[in-house]
Amino acid sequence: MPDVLVAGAGPAGLLAAFELERAGLDVLVLERDARPSPQSKALGLQPRSVEVLADRDLLGALEPHVQARLPAGHFSGVPIGYTDLPTRFPHQLGIEQAHVAAAIEARLRTPVLRDAAVTAVSQDDEGVTVTAGGREYRAGWLVAADGGHSTVRALLGAAFPGTPARTSLVVADVRLAGKPDGLADGWQLPSTGSGYLLPLSGGRFRTVVFGEEQQRLGRDAPVTAAELQRALTAAHGPDIEVGEVLWASRFGDAARQLERYRHGRVLFAGDAAHIHLPVGGQGLNLGLQDAVNLGWKLAAQVRGHAPAGLLDSYHDERHPVAARVLVSTRAQAVLGIPDPDAAAVREIVTDLLAVPEARHAVAMELSGLGVTYPGTSGRATDVPAAPDGRAVLVGAPLPDGWADRVETRDGPAPRLVRPDGYVVWTGEPGLAEALSRWFGPPR
Ligand SMILES: Cc1cc2nc3c(=O)[nH]c(=O)nc-3n(C[C@H](O)[C@H](O)[C@H](O)COP(=O)(O)OP(=O)(O)OC[C@H]3O[C@@H](n4cnc5c(N)ncnc54)[C@H](O)[C@@H]3O)c2cc1C
Repeated sequence: MPDVLVAGAGPAGLLAAFELERAGLDVLVLERDARPSPQSKALGLQPRSVEVLADRDLLGALEPHVQARLPAGHFSGVPIGYTDLPTRFPHQLGIEQAHVAAAIEARLRTPVLRDAAVTAVSQDDEGVTVTAGGREYRAGWLVAADGGHSTVRALLGAAFPGTPARTSLVVADVRLAGKPDGLADGWQLPSTGSGYLLPLSGGRFRTVVFGEEQQRLGRDAPVTAAELQRALTAAHGPDIEVGEVLWASRFGDAARQLERYRHGRVLFAGDAAHIHLPVGGQGLNLGLQDAVNLGWKLAAQVRGHAPAGLLDSYHDERHPVAARVLVSTRAQAVLGIPDPDAAAVREIVTDLLAVPEARHAVAMELSGLGVTYPGTSGRATDVPAAPDGRAVLVGAPLPDGWADRVETRDGPAPRLVRPDGYVVWTGEPGLAEALSRWFGPPR
């Protein structure tokens, strides 16, 4: 019997499984689809995600697939420079989500079980029972990372309040049979206009369209080449010709978040816990950060040394971060609507974001670098994660009784760093108290 089941082999579920395995747990990932999707919703990694993947030695596997290092993020299409951010990686990596997922999956000890859609969940005092692909699985805990339409969320009847979708958009990857002159041929920040075209590898183009026709058609209407052709002609003129449509999907701007990320022995992560308009490149990154915040806490719980409240601190720390992203993406959605008043607000916001302090504050938010948690003093930028998921104590002797949970390293600046990279002690008196508070009492 595994220690933990994970529902969903998207980026959030895979990284959660990786973190749990790193900490020595047995994990089984249950995935609905028969094979990994070659299609990518997200096309970018924010700096904090790049740091996290680098610290876990996962960045090298991504390198061959990196198509751009963009020195900026954007707020509803307004470029937000990243070059002065306090990080080794002051850029967004242009990379397709499928490569990120594949790189993490390749590092799992236990292969993902595919064709295993979760259809039932029950829990008792000792564990959870999950039906997936017609079979029953039992474990102590379930991480629900089964995406924005989460079945686990529905099965548990978990409250998912927020605002409904008001606008409908289509994302599609296409090949073009005809191209207008002057079409960009390198990766760039997406514009917010309907019909922008971003060149991907292999002659593919990513487009997002959201004109009057998309608002009229229902969310379940199939996306046709003719619909895309009309939208792209409107945006680029008569020379553009849609060839093959490789993948297309409709999505909206609903913004919702679970009231509670923990339901007994079930913990939600990624899009299963929060959905919003994918503007500003936030969703995948939020899910990756959920996974690294949850992984070490759940591992400590399973191994029996989690201090009281540690597992619940997953909700306490991560819920406000996603709540803020929902505010940010809802504001960005308003700036993007075709309305003269929205254009006026955009002009003012653009001017405000030219003020260095304002730009820096928004850059820290979009990049994920500005995230801090109560009782921590920011992230350590130069302390790679311990390969076995332990915390790291730099530049100070470790008191007896914590060596199973804390690795020691030499270094000039004393720090105690959680397995997810956040600093919880910086050399003042009280190291033993900090160790107990975060990692449990000495053995
Ligand atoms: C058009 C578009 C563009 C985007 N661009 C960006 C971007 O640039 N940057 C960014 O950060 N984010 C972006 N996002 C958001 C990002 O793609 C998501 O936030 C991200 O995929 C969430 O990862 P996840 O692992 O939580 O969920 P998912 O990637 O949705 O993975 C969930 C997994 O669960 C599986 N599953 C579903 N139901 C079950 C079940 N019952 N049992 C078992 N398995 C199940 C699914 O098959 C899937 O593999 C974009 C989204 C869209 C739609």
